[in-house]
Amino acid sequence: MKIGFIGLGNMGAPMAANLVAAGHEVTGFDLAAPAPGGVSMAASAAEAAKGAEVVITMLPNGTILRAVAEEVLPAMEPGAILLDCSTVDVASARDAAAMAAEKGLGFLDAPVSGGVGGAAAGTLTFMVGGEDAAFATAKPLFDVMGQKAVHCGPAGNGQAAKICNNMILGVTMIATCEAFALADKLGLDRQAMFDVVSTSSGQSWSMNTYCPAPGVGPTSPADNDYNPGFAADLMLKDLRLSQSAAEAADADTPMGALASALYAQFVESEDGAGRDFSAMLPRFEKRGRS
Ligand code: NAD
Repeated sequence: MKIGFIGLGNMGAPMAANLVAAGHEVTGFDLAAPAPGGVSMAASAAEAAKGAEVVITMLPNGTILRAVAEEVLPAMEPGAILLDCSTVDVASARDAAAMAAEKGLGFLDAPVSGGVGGAAAGTLTFMVGGEDAAFATAKPLFDVMGQKAVHCGPAGNGQAAKICNNMILGVTMIATCEAFALADKLGLDRQAMFDVVSTSSGQSWSMNTYCPAPGVGPTSPADNDYNPGFAADLMLKDLRLSQSAAEAADADTPMGALASALYAQFVESEDGAGRDFSAMLPRFEKRGRS
C-alpha cells in the first residue's frame, strides 16, 4: 500500500519502520524527527499525503491533529483514509471525522496501547472508531503494526475506549502503590503481598504485569529506577482527557478526578518529573519519614 506517515516521534518512527519492513511504500513528514530507515521524507504534511491510500498521523494532541487534518485532507486522493493513531480528545477525533466526510474521505481514530516497546515489536493494540469499510481497508496495517485491533463503533469511540482504559490504569496504579506503602507500615513483606494480591481479587495489570515495587513480580520500570516506561506526564495527559470528556458528557468520575489531581501534583514535584507513572510508590513511601 502507498502510505503517508505524519509524526515520526517515539511511537511513529518504529510503526512506520514496521510498515516499510512489511513491504509498504511509506512517505513521511515530521517537523523535527529524522527519517526512520526506509521512509522517504516529504517537504510538508500535504506532500506526504499526496497519492497515499492511507495517511497515518501519530501526533502529540488534538489541536495539532486538527491543524494537520486541515492541511492534508485537501491533498488526499478520493477514497483515501486518514488514520489517526494519536491519543487525542474525543471531540477533536469526531471533528476530524466530520472534516474528512465533508471531502468524501474516510477517517478512523485508532489510538494505541502498548507503548514504545509495543510499537517497535509490532504488538500494539488498536482501539478503533469509524466506518466498517475504512476499518476493513486499514486492517492489514493494524496487523503489521499491532497484534490486535478492536472496532469500537463510530468515529471517536476509539478515543473513548482509550481514555476509559487509561483512567482505570491510573486509578489502579495509585491504589496498588498506596497499598504497598500501607503493607510496609504494617510489616507485610512485599513479596508476600505480591504473591497474595496477584492471585486474589485485588489483582490488576498494575500489580501483575507492571508491579511498582522493585524486585517483586515481573521486570518493570521499578527495576530500572523508575525510568519510563510510561511517563507520569503521559498518564496525566490521558487522565485529563478522561476528565474533560466526563465533564462534556456529564459523567460522574470521582476516582478519575482524584487520580488526575494526584498525578498533576506528582508530575510537578521533583519525585515525578520525567519518571515512570509507577514511581507513585516512592511518593507514598515518603509519608511519615523525617
Ligand atoms: P513524540 O513527541 O515522540 O512524537 C510526536 C511527533 O510529532 C514529534 O516527532 C513531533 O516533531 C511531531 N509533530 C508535532 N507536530 C507536528 C506537525 N504539525 N507536523 C508533523 N509532525 C509534527 O510523541 P510519541 O511518544 O510518539 O506519542 C505520539 C502519540 O502517541 C501521542 O498522542 C501519545 O499520547 C500517544 N501514545 C504514546 C505512547 C508512548 O508510550 N509514548 C503510548 C501510547 C500512545
